Amino acid sequence: MKERRRSSAPAILALAICVGAGAARAADVTGARIVGADKEPGNWLSHGRTYSEQRFSPLNKIDAGNVGQLGLAWWLDIKSRTTRGVEATPLVVDGVMYNTGAWSHVQAIDAKAGKLLWEYDPQVPGEHAVKACCDAVNRGAAVWGGKVFVGTLDGRLIALDAKTGKLAWETLTVDQSKDYTITGAPRVVKGKVIIGNGGAEFGVRGYVSAYDADTGKMVWRFYTVPGNPKDGFESKALEKAAQTWHGEWWKYGGGGTVWDSMAYDPDLDLLYIGVGNGSPWNYQIRSEGKGDNLFLSSIVAIRPDTGEYVWHFQGTPGEDWDFTATQHMILLDLMIDGKLRKCIVQAPKNGFFYVLDRETGAFISGTPYATVTWADGLDPKTGRPNVKAEARWSTSGKPVLMLPGPGGAHNWQPMSYSPLTGLIYIPATEAGFAYVPVDPKTWAFRPTHFSNIGLDPVGIAFPEDEGARKAIRASTKGKLVAWDPVARKAAWTVDYGVPWNGGVLSTAGGLVFQGTGEGKFVAYESSSGKKLWESFAQTGIIAAPITYEVDGEQYVTVNTGWGGTFSMIPGLVVSGAAAAGTNRVLTFKLGGKAVLPPLKTAERPLNPPPATAAPDKVAAGKLLYETYCFYCHGDSAVSGGTLPDLRFSATLPSAEAWKAIVLDGTLTKNGMISFARNLKSDDVETIRAYLVERAHAEKKRLANP
Ligand code: CA
Repeated sequence: MKERRRSSAPAILALAICVGAGAARAADVTGARIVGADKEPGNWLSHGRTYSEQRFSPLNKIDAGNVGQLGLAWWLDIKSRTTRGVEATPLVVDGVMYNTGAWSHVQAIDAKAGKLLWEYDPQVPGEHAVKACCDAVNRGAAVWGGKVFVGTLDGRLIALDAKTGKLAWETLTVDQSKDYTITGAPRVVKGKVIIGNGGAEFGVRGYVSAYDADTGKMVWRFYTVPGNPKDGFESKALEKAAQTWHGEWWKYGGGGTVWDSMAYDPDLDLLYIGVGNGSPWNYQIRSEGKGDNLFLSSIVAIRPDTGEYVWHFQGTPGEDWDFTATQHMILLDLMIDGKLRKCIVQAPKNGFFYVLDRETGAFISGTPYATVTWADGLDPKTGRPNVKAEARWSTSGKPVLMLPGPGGAHNWQPMSYSPLTGLIYIPATEAGFAYVPVDPKTWAFRPTHFSNIGLDPVGIAFPEDEGARKAIRASTKGKLVAWDPVARKAAWTVDYGVPWNGGVLSTAGGLVFQGTGEGKFVAYESSSGKKLWESFAQTGIIAAPITYEVDGEQYVTVNTGWGGTFSMIPGLVVSGAAAAGTNRVLTFKLGGKAVLPPLKTAERPLNPPPATAAPDKVAAGKLLYETYCFYCHGDSAVSGGTLPDLRFSATLPSAEAWKAIVLDGTLTKNGMISFARNLKSDDVETIRAYLVERAHAEKKRLANP
């Protein structure tokens, strides 16, 4: 205040003019602005709008009465070197939108006119796509002090000048010789950019780091799992955590990557991080089937200034199923048994909705929000699951079919909490999975590039019998669940035919917005789930919408772009999804009149060469395919629509052209690397024989539907 009083009159006038024009500089975001986000509801300043990550907007000009008049205000293509999923939540600061697309591309857009202001391509080498379990996606940027921060797929944290898009600094946050990737959005807390990473399907050790927003210098790093005890522990917390691990876990990385969710409570000064699954998944191999393996599958509260551990809650001790606790966390206050409690809530992959005390980490309640067959409920005092003996596939050595599976009852798609209805809107999935163990004696750690999670690659693939496939498709669903966290039950649900749908936004206009895998963008009445409006987006939606205001007019924006886990691995169960079309930013307003260009549907000729291979060669090809190819092109050779379905490949008839791609790496820039270090020429031909067989089976199926 003293400084301001001493300022000369012209300086005050200049300041007033700048503020009047919007802001002194682009993306002039501070901690005070994010903490006070409700005072400027026209902006969307951080990933979950507020540090509490509620994804509720106080804007109410678009409401249940007029949402029927919602129309497209503008649209903009999201450029990318190849069509991949778009998972980003855009930010809006003082009329400018900051958005990210596949391959970590960044865009700044005039949020009113829809005009591109600048874009930045961080030039992620194509080789890094195979390090990503679940597509070359990015979930968004952070803004602070005139800069835009983005984590890139190859593990860099980049800071761009928000006005020009020019690189301010970049820092490598990972060891690039290992299979780390970044897909999550950074958060900025007290001048520090917080970023984690992924890779727990590929033998890495998880951590989260903080970097100075001005300089890019690392301030602290918090490891989520202990390393080799011989090297000493980074903290007392890890020394304690090591008592819950057995065998030689550090050789395999251990996992526990912090690949998505965070939240921050400025009053308690606690940063919450969601920690991922074990690496390898197989608990028997990873830790001799013993111990809780902290801090896998946990919410951990840490100090944002130092990265010091404060408390943790582990939902899935002895993690064995890819049950991450990286799913969206929301901070909210709830009246429970007559007492107002400061809570943190999460619907992690394991299917239980948790309510915890966010000051202490104490368990308050945990209730299935989807079908759960792996546990008989939770201990009412501690929240520890009563794991069914048969669910322990890796220690028993026996396969188990259970729900949820590794896709989770809820994955990264953000939820939303409306304080007006008291409901949390969860984009949920009902999808079973057969965990079939590999023989631990035949397992060897392969530290780079290819999934080696301790499951039998052929055993876990979908059956090729059409009857079984129909049953799997019919039992796999998506849902929007409006969950009451106090009554511990759903107030209403909406069912979807496709299990993989978009994140959620709720507003003070009494609305819930969600995009679907079938390419619809839908508005529901938040109290009842009644569908009030929908618009066809031409391609599947997985990202979460936002809403903002410019010059007094309210807009709703969602990114379209089909991709992510379910479009990559279990292609079979998303066969009803919208075909992958052009990825775009779509922005709606009342009375919007913009129209998308007509949808071009590509023809998919199916012309396999004659099937001449012997059955044993086809079987050998299947094993190779399910070991090296299924992660991107879909198990049992059914693509979910993002990457090419190899049964339809125009290259399939030519052994030479096939080898040029698979061994010589002619499509490396697109993410299709050379597999020369894992496959020999004969192997590549064997895989081709399997795919020719699969193409003929599909041809037969299409002829006799
Ligand atoms: Ca995982």
